[in-house]
Amino acid sequence: LRARAEARAHEAAVTRDGRRIEVFANVGKPEDAAAAVAAGADGVGLFRTEFLYLENDHWPTEEEQYDAYRQVLEAFGDKPVIIRTLDIGGDKQLPYAKLPAEENPFLGLRAIRWCLAEPEVFRTQLRALLRASRHGNLWIMFPMVESVTELREAKAWVARCREELVQEGVEVRADIPLGVMVETPAAALTADVLAREADFFSIGTNDLTQYTLAADRGNADVAHLYDPLHPAILRLIRMTCDAAAKAGIQVGMCGEMAGDAALTELLIGLGLQELSMSSAFVPMVKEQVRGVDTAAARVKADAAAGAESPDAARTVL
Ligand code: PEP
Ligand code: MG
Repeated sequence: LRARAEARAHEAAVTRDGRRIEVFANVGKPEDAAAAVAAGADGVGLFRTEFLYLENDHWPTEEEQYDAYRQVLEAFGDKPVIIRTLDIGGDKQLPYAKLPAEENPFLGLRAIRWCLAEPEVFRTQLRALLRASRHGNLWIMFPMVESVTELREAKAWVARCREELVQEGVEVRADIPLGVMVETPAAALTADVLAREADFFSIGTNDLTQYTLAADRGNADVAHLYDPLHPAILRLIRMTCDAAAKAGIQVGMCGEMAGDAALTELLIGLGLQELSMSSAFVPMVKEQVRGVDTAAARVKADAAAGAESPDAARTVL
């Protein structure tokens, strides 16, 4: 199976009934882009930009960021590259950022909340992204969104930065999709509202699982509770996919769950159109897609989402 998967890694992943599923790669550094292309990724589903901030002893400049974004965009040509704006706070701290001491950092000033509270840092990143946009097919994604108000504020910053750059005579691509990372229960439960103003969704199951099950993703003592196959998670995923389908926007997944080939049929059945994972998993997941029949997958996914427990969902699968 592995040999066949490797041999067909650069072909599109199409289900038995003819549905194309985009299989994307998660990228953590510009240097990973070449490996992702070589693995057969159809695009980048999540470029985590934190490395720029974590590996520096100062706020990365607009120029430093522009170079990094440009590198990944160029590696992928006209294929989509979803770049996530800064996600610090939570377990990711920066020595030079004056983040407040918090009792519950995962419930604190994290990701988009932090960026909206520190607009200068956000503005620098958005300017770098918009400037890099002419080098490829850039999509911008906001992490940890929990309401349409945050989405509107984030989009307003993008519009402001675009305006600035245009005034400066800089070329910015006109059609940059702006999306929401669905990784809080609030975002999943109000996906219908968000879908009216977002151009795409990507489900972050690492955080969605932690927040829905109230189980810290890094705490070994509750690792037995941290299970993305909990029917509560499956229902939130299905709800998000249904809302996206109704609004006609793309819905993907970029949490660890997306790279598990044993779950590909389930995820297609829940309604996902794009799956993003570590490059190493791309060929196997593509091969898995080719064996799926969407109608049968839907029946299975509904049964798993209706199961009484994670174990019961696993039995269904
Ligand atoms: C997620 O939460 O599922 C995700 C992909 O983002 P991160 O792991 O970077 O929080
Ligand atoms: Mg996350």
